[in-house]
Amino acid sequence: MKYRSTRNKDLRLDCAETVIRGLSEDGGLFVPVEVPELKKGELTELSKLGYCERAKNIFAKYMTDFSEEELFECAEKAYIGRFEDETPTPIVKLGDGTYMLELWHGPTCAFKDMALQILPHFLVKSAEKAGDGKKTVILTATSGDTGKAALEGFCDVEGTEIIVFYPQNGVSKIQQLQMQTQSGKNVAVSGVVGNFDDAQTAVKTIFTDEKIREKLAEKGKRFSSANSINVGRLIPQIVYYVSAYADLISDGEIAEGEVVNVCVPTGNFGNILAAYYAKRMGVPFGKLICASNANNVLTEFLSTGVYNADRKFYMTESPSMDILVSSNLERLLFELCDHDDGYITALMNSLREHGNYCVPNEILAKIKELFAAGYTDDEGAEKRIKTLFEEYSYLCDTHTAVAVEVYEKYKIETGDETKTIVVSTASPYKFPRAVLKSVSGKIVEDDFEAAKEIECISKLEMPAQLKGLSEKEPRFTGVCKREEMAEFVLSTVGGES
Ligand SMILES: *Cc1c(COP(=O)(O)O)cnc(C)c1O
Repeated sequence: MKYRSTRNKDLRLDCAETVIRGLSEDGGLFVPVEVPELKKGELTELSKLGYCERAKNIFAKYMTDFSEEELFECAEKAYIGRFEDETPTPIVKLGDGTYMLELWHGPTCAFKDMALQILPHFLVKSAEKAGDGKKTVILTATSGDTGKAALEGFCDVEGTEIIVFYPQNGVSKIQQLQMQTQSGKNVAVSGVVGNFDDAQTAVKTIFTDEKIREKLAEKGKRFSSANSINVGRLIPQIVYYVSAYADLISDGEIAEGEVVNVCVPTGNFGNILAAYYAKRMGVPFGKLICASNANNVLTEFLSTGVYNADRKFYMTESPSMDILVSSNLERLLFELCDHDDGYITALMNSLREHGNYCVPNEILAKIKELFAAGYTDDEGAEKRIKTLFEEYSYLCDTHTAVAVEVYEKYKIETGDETKTIVVSTASPYKFPRAVLKSVSGKIVEDDFEAAKEIECISKLEMPAQLKGLSEKEPRFTGVCKREEMAEFVLSTVGGES
């Protein structure tokens, strides 16, 4: 399987090469030249296998330049012993036809672990294939959860270094502490003045800066990205959708072929894009329901065809979805416009220069057939957390609550009662103050105090990896301005060679 860029459809690269590069040099995102299809009966076959075997089978379709042994080895390193249970992605059934796909039982308690536990292993194997002996420098902007998950995935992985930037006032105390206390000799972390989009835009600029690339090359290093634009993250995310469907078969909830909707709390459009690819592969998914918070740029786009990032930015209780520029949307647009790379380049230029773009009705019609979209504000999410807890004794985090709320509204508006997988993306203990306020009305200033109270109310235990944070000493407390980020990068990578 070869990969091309959304801004250069004639490019042909092996998967390993795209994993190393992260982002294409033309600014585009890598996409597989074809979407591989599942064979008839394959979902039932997969339903009899464990997670790593399933993963190997899906990987093998997309990563043909890797051997099956290599792929299985990567999956085992990522998913065995690193997650709470044998199944990394348990499903909890809520009432009739709603299935919570919990993707947060990994080391950092958010769904980003699903991809970021395995990306470093893909990267090391990819670098071996490239055979030039270069070290990889991972450069990442995070809206909160990616940063820690990437740090945890890359920590002390031979031949890699990682630098993470997070928006100074855009992450929770727990998220910030998780990053500031990161161990490992190949890691660096800094806050950035501004919001996530500011940090992400600056990272993209550093990435494509020729001078910086040259300086890195002199040191025998090269950039790669752990952001959700990396193909090495997209593919593992496709796996859990295929696997969830297979689980519903093996649990006797559905028969192969039965249509199931998927509802995803969305920020950068990465997670839901993986659901789209799973559907294209032949998983019988019906509507892909895109759930947003008050930053509802995607709700508007998916219903009107107008993408307008030039709007008020809200800091919400679901900070990992506080995004106005959803990078992965570019991949969907590329797929829906018959791979017209010139058109995609024009759209993205318009977004950069004018803060908006608009797609024609023909593309909007395709979007509407595939997707439904909705949003809710903090209040809606809060109420939903409370209702779920009261009705099902089920405690969910603020991001997941956005998805459940949007899903419930979707059901009422459309009357669509199709069984639905709702993606649960974080442990409620990652955002304990908001969760406590939702279930009990109580306002507590401190994350850890709030977590203790939740433990009393819910009998759900706080994950050990979060509990231990309050005693750890922060290592990385610095903050820089956007224009100082390049300097921080250069001094970090220059320091040790
Ligand atoms: C990153 C994140 C999201 C959004 O995922 P995207 O792939 O950016 O759409 C939702 N919830 C949580 C908890 C996250 O960490």
